[in-house]
Amino acid sequence: MPEQLSEALHFTKTWQQQLAEAFNNIEDLCNYLELPLNELPTSVTAGKNFPLRVPLSFAACMQKGEPNDPLLRQVLPIKDELIFYPGYNSDPVGDLLSVSQTGVLHKYHGRVLFINTGSCAINCRYCFRRNFPYQDLQLGKQDENKAIQFIHDNPDISEVILSGGDPLLLNDARLMQLFDQLNVIKHLKRIRIHSRLPIVLPARITNELTNILVQSTKQIIIVIHCNHANEINDRVIAGFNLLKNKDITLFNQSVLLEGVNDNVTVLSNLSEQLFSHGVIPYYLHLLDKATGTGHFEVSESSAIAIITKLQAMLPGYLIPKLVKEQAGGLSKQPVHSP
Ligand SMILES: *Cc1c(COP(=O)(O)O)cnc(C)c1O
Ligand code: SF4
Repeated sequence: MPEQLSEALHFTKTWQQQLAEAFNNIEDLCNYLELPLNELPTSVTAGKNFPLRVPLSFAACMQKGEPNDPLLRQVLPIKDELIFYPGYNSDPVGDLLSVSQTGVLHKYHGRVLFINTGSCAINCRYCFRRNFPYQDLQLGKQDENKAIQFIHDNPDISEVILSGGDPLLLNDARLMQLFDQLNVIKHLKRIRIHSRLPIVLPARITNELTNILVQSTKQIIIVIHCNHANEINDRVIAGFNLLKNKDITLFNQSVLLEGVNDNVTVLSNLSEQLFSHGVIPYYLHLLDKATGTGHFEVSESSAIAIITKLQAMLPGYLIPKLVKEQAGGLSKQPVHSP
């Protein structure tokens, strides 16, 4: 079948089918992008530790024949991942073990992270969860009930954040059950979803999904994860529109990544594009220092220089907050000039 036809056909399939057909090896992705494998610094070893995984919808946003594409850099296993960087370790945030045992993480006042699934539709090379068997975590029914009970018993918790992994990888039936359980907890005001699927697998945003969300008695917030304006295509915009039409608040968080978005023009375009489609910039995170990700680091001083320039270009509401994660902190830590 000619490539364009088979691509068009792919996007008529359900999100589950599209996910099942995601690229899962370096060769197929390089063929699709018309890039000769021997001209790229790919690493089979890096891909064994943490496999390549990219839905076609995201790959279709990459520029063909461009080895330095900023989206490709986020997903391609390369030799740099094997370099040792001091200060990097397998669990930089220090949470993963405790989460995988209980499903809830209550670190900040008034809100809890609730992790139902460790899987993602895409494997981002810079991710802090890349070194953990956490990918396979699926919270059993019993653990889920314990987590819900914990939220129930803590009247201080006003917001539940469904996180992961990617919580929108739960199917509609599971999500509906979960919402039914959360909706009846009186002290909860908001349910927030942290998901990269609106960007990497926009087919997940269906009418059935938005109906589950709007039927909730709580305010619904979705924090998407987009690092570069090139990630926003027509399918992504259609998904945003479905959500916006149901009055769901959309925020974006990005990670500041060397060679991807460590540049004022790129970040300015990102904020402008997001906002023009109804998404408000929220956080710009410094990299969590997970083993294998050191080549993505942007130093704190460069990050401050970039954000300072961005502030001189854009209205305040288009500037994401520059933050880092600090073990034991009461919130994300703002990063400012010394
Ligand atoms: C990031 C995070 C949150 C959410 O923080 P906000 O500042 O409300 O976005 C909540 N709990 C934990 C453990 C987190 O890591
Ligand atoms: S989608 Fe988020 S959690 Fe999943 S691999 Fe990417 S950065 Fe990590």
